[in-house]
Amino acid sequence: MFAFERPACPDYLSGSWEELGLRYEAEKAENEAYKFQWTARFRYENTRQLLNEMTQGHCAFCDGGDLGAMSRETIEHFKPKSRAEFRRFAYQWENLYPCCDQCQSQKREDFDEQLLVADEIGYQFDDYFIVDYINGELQPNPLATDENQRRAQITLELYGLNIAIRLQCRKKELRRYRQRDRDEDVLDDFSYRYFLMDA
Ligand SMILES: [Zn+2]
Repeated sequence: MFAFERPACPDYLSGSWEELGLRYEAEKAENEAYKFQWTARFRYENTRQLLNEMTQGHCAFCDGGDLGAMSRETIEHFKPKSRAEFRRFAYQWENLYPCCDQCQSQKREDFDEQLLVADEIGYQFDDYFIVDYINGELQPNPLATDENQRRAQITLELYGLNIAIRLQCRKKELRRYRQRDRDEDVLDDFSYRYFLMDA
């Protein structure tokens, strides 16, 4: 969860997302088997690229880098489109995030109002989390407010941010970061920037 800023919704989408979402909602209400699809007006490739630029090519949730090279580049619905109450947000710019395979398969169709997103106004990693450089874990910041700690915990669980493979990947990336070429390599070239930025 590395903080980033979301640019304004592109024009082609600001005029169409509501209509596209309502249409999807109506189709689904009529026929439960109706399959969601990105329509031509959504301009999938273009939109995906804008979302990727927003996070410098990192997964919006685990901050895994090199989306596309290491993982399929997918667009994640933060509020899941499979839930009836969220269908109308299926094309909403603010509901869409670049996401890696791992996070997508962990989160599935879950959602919690307390879940954190890294483009939330004022979001800062340290207000919610601390890192353990020895075992690679993220933990709720014990100095944070109760509410922030609860939100951190929910987020860690829902995205499976502390499953074994993640800890290994973070520790490996930390070693790679410590051996970086300080003149050439910048933080954005690495995954899990929240884990490395103070290392
Ligand atoms: Zn991820």
